[in-house]
Amino acid sequence: MAAFVTGAGSGIGRAAAIRMAQEGARVCLVDLKERNADAVRETIESLGGEAIVTDTDVSDPGRVEEAMQAAVDEFGRLDVVFANAGINGTMAPIETMTPEQWAHTLTTNLYGTFYAVKYAIPHLKEDGGSIIITSSINGNRKFKNFGGAAYSVSKAGQVAFAKMAALELAQYRIRVNAICPGAIQTNIGENTQQTDEVQSIEIPIKYPKGSQPLAHRAGRPEQVAELVAFLASAESSHITGTEVYIDGAESLL
Ligand code: NAD
Repeated sequence: MAAFVTGAGSGIGRAAAIRMAQEGARVCLVDLKERNADAVRETIESLGGEAIVTDTDVSDPGRVEEAMQAAVDEFGRLDVVFANAGINGTMAPIETMTPEQWAHTLTTNLYGTFYAVKYAIPHLKEDGGSIIITSSINGNRKFKNFGGAAYSVSKAGQVAFAKMAALELAQYRIRVNAICPGAIQTNIGENTQQTDEVQSIEIPIKYPKGSQPLAHRAGRPEQVAELVAFLASAESSHITGTEVYIDGAESLL
């Protein structure tokens, strides 16, 4: 099995890449931060696995196509795409958010997903495969991420895109699913630009103590990686076109 994982240098992408490698997948680690992805490659190799790194901005279609080709050149096949790279981007009221800030979030999260899927199709068509897209509870079940209109739109768009792609690609035995995590302990805070103006649109909400009902804390990337490995495997062979929430019931509150 060969897998193409975007945002593989940190958090959910890192954990999923390691998990799939432990299950025998050869993995193409795609990230803007090549150094972090290199460290993931070393971890995979120390576990006896195989991985390559591409220094790729997923919002650049040409670079994504090149990275996909590099993976296929190296592994001779492609079975799994985990379109996961994403940012919170600038958190700002719609009134003050600049078109550039809006575009940066959308091109990274939503266009980046489209590019990863689009350029994988010619390769996945050969033997069928599995595409997993990291969406979020935000934009689907939750709308209280104040200042995050661009983020939520990108995450809602990913679920609609997964459903359209699932129908379109079923004829090639390519399954497409979206995962919707709640709060997960990762480095996504580094990709968040909070603006002071957000305070002006916040609506106070009081949750009961321990707002993640199941575990009273954020999830771990490794827990998400288990879901990704399941959706990548033949054990989920009849599952396509659906979103799966992984949030300890956080989004039901
Ligand atoms: P993270 O910041 O730990 O990891 C994201 C990785 O993506 C980083 O290595 C970063 O360098 C990379 N990346 C960012 N922009 C990129 C680009 N343009 N091209 C290539 N790589 C890029 O964050 P994470 O929490 O693991 O995020 C992964 C996905 O999970 C994102 O799509 C995010 O929206 C989603 N998500 C996260 C949470 C959470 O609570 N952490 C919740 C719901 C959804």
